[in-house]
Amino acid sequence: MRKFIVATRNKGKLEEIKEILKDFNFNVISMDQAGIGKEIEETGNSFEENALIKAREIFKLTNEMVMADDSGLEVDYLGGAPGIYTSRFAGEGATDLERINKLLNLLEGVPWEKRTARFVCAIAVCFPDGSNLTVKGICDGYIGFELRGSNGFGYDPIFYLHENGVSMAELEPEHKHKISHRGKALAELVKKLRER
Ligand code: IMP
Repeated sequence: MRKFIVATRNKGKLEEIKEILKDFNFNVISMDQAGIGKEIEETGNSFEENALIKAREIFKLTNEMVMADDSGLEVDYLGGAPGIYTSRFAGEGATDLERINKLLNLLEGVPWEKRTARFVCAIAVCFPDGSNLTVKGICDGYIGFELRGSNGFGYDPIFYLHENGVSMAELEPEHKHKISHRGKALAELVKKLRER
């Protein structure tokens, strides 16, 4: 079975990816399981570049199939920020709640219609023949005025969906995976892998 290394230390992400790729004859393993402890710096200027940088670095160390992702939140009122800096938005080591509060403070007094935002996820895969591919998924919504829901992680409690006005943290995981940026990018990845 071909190894498929996922450049993440997040167990939730790994399980989700394993489930989605279960029809392929891949042995899906994490960086840790592949014996890679290296932290890779995200020095790119876009989600795609960062995903590809991570996948390439690990590919160089392993020569196995490697997948990496990069995701974040773009808020229109802030000119697309925090974007690729989403995880470092309130400084290294800050909590999800600190990041959420920083964002809510920056949007204080901004009305609903100007609070549009999107989650973006780029995925890159490097293949042993030296080729690679990238895919992207987007989930549109807006930043609410208050936290709602307890599912999910990160900015989910303040990210509201246009369709039904509920926050991402109010969705059951299976529902979130169908409509989320990561779910859409993974669906596109499966399509591309089948075409190869
Ligand atoms: P990374 O791609 O794992 O580095 O995540 C980047 C940042 O985006 C982190 O701060 C996450 O909290 C945030 N983020 C990415 N995806 C989601 C999501 O599905 N819900 C909430 N926050 C997310």
